[in-house]
Amino acid sequence: MLPVPFKERTPSKELITMELLNQRKQLATKDKHHYLNLKKGYEGEVKFDKLTEKLQCKCLILNDLLLEANNTTFQLDSTIILNGKPFIYEIKNFDEDYYYNSDKLYKKPNLEVLNPLHQISRSESLLRRLLNNLGYNLPIESFVIFINSNFTLYQAPMDKPIILPTQINRFLNNLNSTTSQITERDLKLAHQLKSLHITDPKYDKIPPYHFDELYKGIACKYCQSISTELIRRTIVCQNCGGKELYSNAIIRSVREFQVLFPDRKVTTNIIHDWCQIVSKKMVRTTLVNNFKMIGENKWIYFE
Ligand SMILES: [Zn+2]
Repeated sequence: MLPVPFKERTPSKELITMELLNQRKQLATKDKHHYLNLKKGYEGEVKFDKLTEKLQCKCLILNDLLLEANNTTFQLDSTIILNGKPFIYEIKNFDEDYYYNSDKLYKKPNLEVLNPLHQISRSESLLRRLLNNLGYNLPIESFVIFINSNFTLYQAPMDKPIILPTQINRFLNNLNSTTSQITERDLKLAHQLKSLHITDPKYDKIPPYHFDELYKGIACKYCQSISTELIRRTIVCQNCGGKELYSNAIIRSVREFQVLFPDRKVTTNIIHDWCQIVSKKMVRTTLVNNFKMIGENKWIYFE
């Protein structure tokens, strides 16, 4: 049995970092905006994944590919290889009212936004070039999917590959009714694309940050609020009332620290500074029991 999807989607390091920063500092308006956009986009993509996972036709689904062709990187939100043909999807989680005019897309009343049709056609031509370099000459079909049921598009052009929220089910049913087979060649292509996925790109939109400026404490596991307190051995959220055993909360906080400060060593002192609301002894015990201890005496750190 082949895995469904053939390639999974995980939140980008950029989104995870922005989420952690949003918990622990007051982001500048543009950074907050960027974070919320990333989050919303990701939620839309996950929503589409849930639909494609249910496809019964024999196909290979690759979620979230970051590829390079011609020294240019491009992102494919979702790719389905069906009967030897790659279908690529640009997923947009826009809500509210938009209109289309002279090949441009506007959010009402008059904010022009990037036209996703231009994005997908750029991706399509870069993918074509990449496939040619790999020795394939395949037709590619590309679509823009508007996934959010609160989205309305006035003056939607009928001759463009746009799938509106009310059309998604029918669109997937159509795919589903295709008689299909997965060939060796399809599998080879899927493996190649998966192996070419860029896993650690440079993110230039993450604002600079320092340990000292970030709020310290343990963020709630459930609502991410940093307003938590220790009651006996439990971390309790003052915002949502969520509870978590202190050791689990410390382990989680260490992971968060490691995402934000990959170059810094994990020590009892620094994690105690980071978590604040637990005792040094609790931190030390948790680190000793759950991480690999390296070094001796005062040079001990954990991995
Ligand atoms: Zn909470």
